[in-house]
Amino acid sequence: MLLRMSTLFLRTLREDPVDAELPSHKLLVRAGYVRRVGPGLYSWLPLGMLAVRNVERVVREEMLAIGAQEVQFPALVPREVFERSRRWQDYGDALFRLRDRRDADYLLAPTHEELFTLLVKGEYTSYRDLPVSLFQIQTKYRDEARPRAGVLRGREFVMKDSYSFDVDDAGLERSYRAHRDAYERIFRRLGFDYRIVSAVSGAMGGSASEELIAPTPSGEDTFVQCENCDYAANAEAVVIAPPQARGGVVDGGGMGGGTGGAGSGGLPGPQQVLDTPDTPTIATLVERLNTMDLGRSFAAADTLKNLVVKTRAPGAGEWELLVIGVPGDRDVDMKRVAGQLEPTEVAPAGPEDLASQPGLVKGYIGPQRLAELGIRFVVDPLVTEGSAWVTGANEPDRHALDVVRGRDFVPDGELGAVEVRDGDRCARCGGMLQISRGIELGHVFQLGRKYAEVFDLRVTGPDGRPVTVTMGSYGVGITRAVAALAEQTHDELGLRWPREISPADVHLVATGKGEEPYTAGEQLAGELLGAGLRVLYDDRRGTSPGVKFGDSELLGVPLIVTVGRGLAKGVVEVRDRWSDERVEVPLAGAAGEIARLSAAQR
Ligand code: ATP
Ligand code: MG
Repeated sequence: MLLRMSTLFLRTLREDPVDAELPSHKLLVRAGYVRRVGPGLYSWLPLGMLAVRNVERVVREEMLAIGAQEVQFPALVPREVFERSRRWQDYGDALFRLRDRRDADYLLAPTHEELFTLLVKGEYTSYRDLPVSLFQIQTKYRDEARPRAGVLRGREFVMKDSYSFDVDDAGLERSYRAHRDAYERIFRRLGFDYRIVSAVSGAMGGSASEELIAPTPSGEDTFVQCENCDYAANAEAVVIAPPQARGGVVDGGGMGGGTGGAGSGGLPGPQQVLDTPDTPTIATLVERLNTMDLGRSFAAADTLKNLVVKTRAPGAGEWELLVIGVPGDRDVDMKRVAGQLEPTEVAPAGPEDLASQPGLVKGYIGPQRLAELGIRFVVDPLVTEGSAWVTGANEPDRHALDVVRGRDFVPDGELGAVEVRDGDRCARCGGMLQISRGIELGHVFQLGRKYAEVFDLRVTGPDGRPVTVTMGSYGVGITRAVAALAEQTHDELGLRWPREISPADVHLVATGKGEEPYTAGEQLAGELLGAGLRVLYDDRRGTSPGVKFGDSELLGVPLIVTVGRGLAKGVVEVRDRWSDERVEVPLAGAAGEIARLSAAQR
């Protein structure tokens, strides 16, 4: 492949696009890889297409290598298909819905579980037909709420999605492993720094659902790693070890866990109700408590904060109130809560929801009377059995002291609800958890029999009886991978690609007066092609060397070869875009040497 800059459909930009916040977004636009069409909608230009095709190639090769077979579904899907899985109703605002000329409803598919399941159901009937894995590389549509990150979160984007079909759990486990291993090969080949994190709650992590994440400071996903063991989970699925029961009653601050309690030399005295006027927030409450001469000091971690939310089970019409108790120094992570309550929906309770419950006094809610009011109450596991708290007294301007879990209130259950933070303890080994940010590249997931049941996907088993098929679901964001890699690998000069994804292996720049550099450049380009390299050749006449070098840095091809001043000495300059090392190579035999340097690159 030889691309000539003189004819390449490319205009690089000096200025960052005004709507872009992330480096990958700015650079992909400035380097002429993509152009914006509308919110979350981008066109891919020739260099961008080459990068996308390279990701596709690597993904396709690795999918074929594990025996998965390629198919292609339409993006436009009749409503009935999604009605059977209830996703027409349940998917919400992210689903693009449209109507044809006969007034029939359609949607633009956000994923294709339904069609994969129906396809296999239509063709296969016996356990002997299985296992099978099918994949497609196809355009998906999601009306994302905040498509602000460029192609990282498009409303139209390319995904590789695959599904495995097995007769039993052991088969699913094997298919899952094969995909997980393939994903590791894909992201390694593409040059990613990636982590595999658990996406299911449970200290042991399990492997039923895992995400592959590219750590980047600007990533939208939060994940947690243990500094001590190999536990890693996304922020929604993380399990935090509850604190040890602590001794001493005068022990404000610390890791939360109330002001004392069982296991610390007996329970505190009976709860006391205190007048605490004008203390509707944790901060005002703590300040007041510390001026009240109660013989101890208080911190936010000694208070119990009770957040009112509402939940609605699938198919239920009514929302029901739910109160969640967490230590007062912690925030509730609504995504974590939602992840655990799924498929039940959860939303913050508004004033109109609270109005129906005069027993709930805003700013002064405590768990003591919730059972009596018929309101469900759960606590984060950090609110341990026997721990004592300062909390609302369910009366305006009053709080209660020494309110003990198990004595003064009994929650209906526990729910990991707090926002995880650095220094929280690993539930597996007790080590420190560390929070990082990243971009989700892919997801491997044991879907099980959910869709097979909905669509009645059964095959005849060895004993002649029907068996419901079990499925795995595996996705990779193709277009997202291009931007995620840009996010991870760029530097202050521009894009900087690993070889597999780069639009070319070598960016050959001819500079200088007269014909000589161009004649030599032309010849070297031919030799590089002969050596099996993909060449982007800057053969532009009348473009200044400064502009050419600037472009070569911006476009991100990992090896930059300059044919110019060195010609007098019979050499060309080879610059490694990764290490910025520059070496002079004799023009005679340069192609072989350049091919060797290229092969050694990331
Ligand atoms: P996210 O949490 O980032 O929205 P998701 O959990 O919705 O991702 P999946 O439904 O598992 O994603 O889709 C599989 C893969 O498709 C993701 O791992 C990601 O790489 C990619 N992807 C998802 N949404 C988008 C999008 N809006 N734009 C580009 N790629 C996307
Ligand atoms: Mg999503």
